[in-house]
Amino acid sequence: MRVLSVVSEAVPLVKTGGLADVAGALPGALGPMGVEVTTLLPGYGAVTGALQGARAVWSGALMGHDARLLEGEGGGLDLLVLDAPALFAREGSIYLGPDGADWPDNPERFAALSQAAALVARGETEAPAPDLVHCHDWQAGLTPYYLRGSGIPTVMTVHNVAFHGLAPAERAEALGVDPADMHRDGVEFWGQLSALKAGLVHASHLTTVSPTYAAELCTPEFGMGLDGLFRARRGDLTGILNGIDTAVWDPAADAHAPGFKTPRGKGRARDALMAELGLPDAPGPLCVVVSRLTEQKGIDLLLQALPALVDQGGRLAVLGSGDRGLEDGLREAARHPHVHVTIGYDEALSHRLIAGGDAILVPSRFEPCGLTQLYGLRYGTLPVVGFTGGLRDTVIDASPMAADAGCATGLHVHPLTADALAQAFDRLCALYRDGDAWKGMQRNAMGTRVGWDRSARAYADLYARLIAAR
Ligand code: ADP
Repeated sequence: MRVLSVVSEAVPLVKTGGLADVAGALPGALGPMGVEVTTLLPGYGAVTGALQGARAVWSGALMGHDARLLEGEGGGLDLLVLDAPALFAREGSIYLGPDGADWPDNPERFAALSQAAALVARGETEAPAPDLVHCHDWQAGLTPYYLRGSGIPTVMTVHNVAFHGLAPAERAEALGVDPADMHRDGVEFWGQLSALKAGLVHASHLTTVSPTYAAELCTPEFGMGLDGLFRARRGDLTGILNGIDTAVWDPAADAHAPGFKTPRGKGRARDALMAELGLPDAPGPLCVVVSRLTEQKGIDLLLQALPALVDQGGRLAVLGSGDRGLEDGLREAARHPHVHVTIGYDEALSHRLIAGGDAILVPSRFEPCGLTQLYGLRYGTLPVVGFTGGLRDTVIDASPMAADAGCATGLHVHPLTADALAQAFDRLCALYRDGDAWKGMQRNAMGTRVGWDRSARAYADLYARLIAAR
């Protein structure tokens, strides 16, 4: 099977969030299952710079700009790179200009990516045509629309429904969208063009990154205005959990953190982290957060509930960046000697935090899958999570029954309020004081299957089914 994966970011080349982790790891997991994945990425500087053995397989114009498709290898991935310097060779973030706002031509940039995907899929380039096209999030959403009526199977994966990829209706035609399709049952969303909706309406099959999020997407509370469409396509919607790259996130051999296999080894990672951050020894757990700092992630609730943690001797170390107000709130909280905050993005520190922490906090209001709780499980860093999406599917709450059954791996916070989070801190501190209970949970957590094998098999089976039905 030959699959074209269309995506705007992929580890290790370019990353802003979990989407990149998934796009970077899934091809390697699918390879042994007989699925050859080529990843189509925009030609940002970091991508063209890493491309090796490049050969042009197409050249022409997309969205009025000179463009080429380069085939080659980079970052361990088989790549097709859309080399269109006017669209992608820019300083700064891949989605945001220097003013922190979306690049005004984002609709055109990613429409060009989707048009390139359609060219490859139809066999109109010198690259081999795929059997199926796998599109990720709104940036690839127009691909299934451009391929409508072609019979080429397409999968549209929703990594986060909060991002719709909206464009003013007047730009629809220039984006290659037939104005006749700008209606409620087509690609229009409240008067604008939605690239995500275009994908959701036209793809052969929809997936999202956890079974619970698949169900949540069908509700007004989580569907972000698209719940009716998800309900209408419920029979074509599958939740497949994300995995993590267990070679990169390996407690026994971590390139960025002191490696360990045993609880004592973990203790050394913890001591090193406390020394690095200047956090004092204290009787409570050392909690860590590695996150975008946004309302979605419940950081405001964490700030409100924090006294319940530090008053019991707990400590908190945060790494993240995002909303100014939340960054300021965290800086203020860091005046307490038990709290350390690093504002920024730091891959190596994220590993040291997850290796050295006792617990990882992910109090998200919604979370399609979430990756950091999976890293936490693997490192025996017990997750305290909102009861939503993939957090709900991957963490087993330490209820008395789960404790009896010997399968608890963390704590659920439900309902997700500051008070409930404070109560979760009480439970966490009590478990921590009961050393045996804690060690048992660490063992359960470290034994959880968090790699890609099971989910890669689910994708491979889905691809095979869709290709056979063509
Ligand atoms: P989302 O994609 O919503 O941001 P995920 O949990 O799915 O959330 O993925 C976030 C990814 O980004 C994880 O790999 C996490 O370790 C990483 N990450 C988030 N913030 C930082 C940061 N400040 N420094 C380093 N890595 C980060």
